Amino acid sequence: MPDDDAIVILGAGYAGLTAYLELRRALGRSAPLCLVNRGRTHYFTTELHEFAAGEEEEADITVPLERVVQPPHRLVVDRVLRIDAAARRVVCERGEVPYARLIVALGSIPEYYGVPGAKEHGVPLTDLRSARRLRARLEELAERRPDARVVVAGGGLTGVQLAAEVADSYPDLRVTVIDAGPHIMPGFEPELVEAAVRVLEGKGVQILTGRAITEVDAHEVTLEGGAARAYDLLVWAGGVRANPVVRESGLPVTRGDRGLVDAYLRCPDDERIFLAGDCAAPTDPASGRVVPPTAQMAVQEGRLAARNAWRAERGQELEAFVPRQRGVFASLGRREGVGRWGRESLYGMPAMVVKRLVEAHHAYDVGGLAYLLRRLAAIAGWGNPARRRAWRRRVLPAPEGGRPAGGLLRS
Ligand SMILES: Cc1cc2nc3c(=O)[nH]c(=O)nc-3n(C[C@H](O)[C@H](O)[C@H](O)COP(=O)(O)OP(=O)(O)OC[C@H]3O[C@@H](n4cnc5c(N)ncnc54)[C@H](O)[C@@H]3O)c2cc1C
Repeated sequence: MPDDDAIVILGAGYAGLTAYLELRRALGRSAPLCLVNRGRTHYFTTELHEFAAGEEEEADITVPLERVVQPPHRLVVDRVLRIDAAARRVVCERGEVPYARLIVALGSIPEYYGVPGAKEHGVPLTDLRSARRLRARLEELAERRPDARVVVAGGGLTGVQLAAEVADSYPDLRVTVIDAGPHIMPGFEPELVEAAVRVLEGKGVQILTGRAITEVDAHEVTLEGGAARAYDLLVWAGGVRANPVVRESGLPVTRGDRGLVDAYLRCPDDERIFLAGDCAAPTDPASGRVVPPTAQMAVQEGRLAARNAWRAERGQELEAFVPRQRGVFASLGRREGVGRWGRESLYGMPAMVVKRLVEAHHAYDVGGLAYLLRRLAAIAGWGNPARRRAWRRRVLPAPEGGRPAGGLLRS
């Protein structure tokens, strides 16, 4: 099949890589797929806070894409600049990629809500590059000033999980979470929020809610009403908006620049284009609401976008998207968490274990047995990073280029 007949997937995150794996399963080697991603690795975004706080090593949270994408399928490592829907091609920094069907799964970028100074002075946590930067800043700060002040702007999943992890890794740093809303962790049941607040406060994390940040300078954040809060490191975890490529390519978007889709995850203006993950805005037919930008939804959307793209190619009937909320979990440092699984509320170690099992499942889907073992080691509380590093060197494949040790990885 010539390249311009290929199904092309943009982004190798939760949605994009799931779409790739689903299509690879359906097609085998019978038709080439093309995966375009700006980096050479898939990273576990839901574990970036652990990496940033020094609890995980980079090789623990990344899978080299060369090991997942093998001929006849093609990996293009390049940055997508825009989609030229009229010409059915994707314009990247170093070339162009034609497509027959396109799955857009380019994730999100930080949302600064126009707060002056936030982008200049805040360190975001949305991708591997920002996590590396945050990790270096935390290490440097803890060494130079062990009792420095870390302000985390945003009390959603990202901010709360990061604050707990930083408090565990650097107990002398003074961590404060600030959120404009009435409480942290919107979307969680009140009793889970209360439990999370207790755990965070037990770790010495201060929580300020109902206080919007109105301005940021190099040393302090100004809160609504005029009070100021000094910081040595500001982490911006205030929210996300969709990757701007969607809007800038002229695809129809809604709030937060998320691409509009129909019930089948197709762009309403172009039936050759499907969207999935944080950059898409599918509606839950049961509630009539746009589904939240989470990894759980990204995986479900990626899978369905893949199936529908393939069905569309074969002229078959498409399947409508029906999101399934299986549970919602937050890790609160190394040994605790809160969450809900069906009707059950889980606290402490059990919640943390369930969250890690979900992550282990994803790691297995993407990286095979070696990555599953790594996650299971984490669940077992094998908390000594030096011991884990030594174990990883023995069991896991070399991060880039080298042969997998012991051949544990699936291709
Ligand atoms: C610290 C943290 C903790 C989180 N914890 C949870 C959690 O516990 N549970 C949960 O459900 N959700 C969680 N989330 C949210 C979840 O990670 C996201 O909703 C999910 O990653 C979205 O998947 P995606 O495939 O849309 O985007 P991503 O996983 O972000 O993937 C996007 C991909 O596109 C690539 N890309 C971006 N721009 C370009 C470009 N221009 N050209 C080429 N490639 C590009 C990126 O490199 C990346 O590979 C967390 C997020 C963070 C940051």
